[in-house]
Amino acid sequence: MTKGRIIKALSGFYYVKSGVDIYQCRGRGVFRKKKINPLVGDFVTFDISNPGEGYISTIETRKNELIRPPIANIDQAVILSSATMPDFSPLLLDRFLVLIESKDIEPIIFISKMDVISEDLNKNIEKYQQDYKAIGYQVELISTKKELNHLDSYFSDHVSVIAGQSGVGKSSLLNALKPSLLLKTDDISKSLGRGKHTTRHVELIEVSNGLVADTPGFSSLDFNEIELEELADCFPEMRERKENCKFRGCMHNKEPKCAVKQAVEEGEIASYRYEHYLSFYTEIQTRKPRY
Ligand code: GDP
Ligand code: ZN
Repeated sequence: MTKGRIIKALSGFYYVKSGVDIYQCRGRGVFRKKKINPLVGDFVTFDISNPGEGYISTIETRKNELIRPPIANIDQAVILSSATMPDFSPLLLDRFLVLIESKDIEPIIFISKMDVISEDLNKNIEKYQQDYKAIGYQVELISTKKELNHLDSYFSDHVSVIAGQSGVGKSSLLNALKPSLLLKTDDISKSLGRGKHTTRHVELIEVSNGLVADTPGFSSLDFNEIELEELADCFPEMRERKENCKFRGCMHNKEPKCAVKQAVEEGEIASYRYEHYLSFYTEIQTRKPRY
């Protein structure tokens, strides 16, 4: 039995990397019977049947998994926002942050299109950068049209996915990190390549000693998987203060003597972050039951 990690899934085959070698594998029939789907990112054991070929026999328990792109054991997600076109939206950024935090994936924030903005907007974005850094997040202001070597250290030794709304530059970023990818960007009309011929192909590509999913993630931005009780834990600055709330299980909403609300009043927690918390709170509270 040999150990490895699935780095690519294509047409029923799983490509398992073990050391420097890559084996073309199929899953054992038992997976199909149990409806277990090996995923890109899975740590597996496999039996070598022929040189370079094998059968996956076991899958290690996953740390986490995403549905789109279908990838397991992700370490970090780069949330790409743009400073302009589309406008920078802290509300949308916070939505991504909550979704990523809830999956135990480490978020990193990149803000693109810094090459085309006015001085005023630049100041505005730098202010947000400070706010998010104060929470403990890493925030890089970038242009996908320029040298990106300084981003290498973010990717090394990690498995990353790139997330962000349409048009922020995800394909441009992936292309800049890995020029051989040749992903279509908005300039080369992505829609042409879409449609029924799209194969379900996911691959982890090597970028600066790390692995990055070649398909951007998080298409669904609803909070259906998030419970009200865990929402505050997806805000690090609230998570670290909850011990100081008077009531155990404080939801930092209507409760008195709430350390979170006090920190908002004292300006230690950005008021827009707290407002976003309340708006997500209402969204989760009022969501329709799923079954
Ligand atoms: P995606 O939908 O997130 O994959 O975005 P694309 O990579 O397709 O980029 C959308 C548009 O923004 C394209 O016209 C890109 O050329 C442009 N773009 C992406 N990143 C930058 C950037 O950093 N600066 C500038 N000026 N344009 C960018
Ligand atoms: Zn509280």
